[in-house]
Amino acid sequence: MIPSSVTMCERCDGLCCRVYDIFDQTTWRLVKRAWDKCGYLDVNNRCRIHTTRDKHPGYSDSCSIYDCLEWWPIVTSFARRIPEDIPQKFAIISSLLEVIRLKLTTLSEENRKIVLLFAARELNSLDTSNQETLLLSVKVVRTKIEHYKFDD
Ligand code: SF4
Ligand code: SF4
Repeated sequence: MIPSSVTMCERCDGLCCRVYDIFDQTTWRLVKRAWDKCGYLDVNNRCRIHTTRDKHPGYSDSCSIYDCLEWWPIVTSFARRIPEDIPQKFAIISSLLEVIRLKLTTLSEENRKIVLLFAARELNSLDTSNQETLLLSVKVVRTKIEHYKFDD
């Protein structure tokens, strides 16, 4: 994907290249399933074919769409704390990413930073060890982010 700042990728697990299904938009063939690691993602979370992606059907369209606006490393930190054996792990992360993405795209850069700080604090305070409480507590955080009110 096209990041706002490539420096942030070092602190991320390449979420932009993992979270989505990728389809060839000519044939609608699935070329990468969501959460499978893309074969073109290098060890530093950089795309090995970024400048030549026009030659790679499927990736050329899908990989130009999303900009993480520098915030997905926050979700990476949270995701790393979720045990691998929690079956809904990817669903939890996907829903969180989408809610934050939708919220941030409506905001100015200054307000994005405020919401990001809020989201980081909320996520850092969650206990990720218990599946039952985690599902509920992430839902609460998602709702708080969705309805975040700025001070007047
Ligand atoms: S989600 Fe953002 S920070 Fe993470 S690898 Fe992608 S562009 Fe870089
Ligand atoms: S082709 Fe590049 S930008 Fe697209 S998912 Fe793979 S590593 Fe990411």
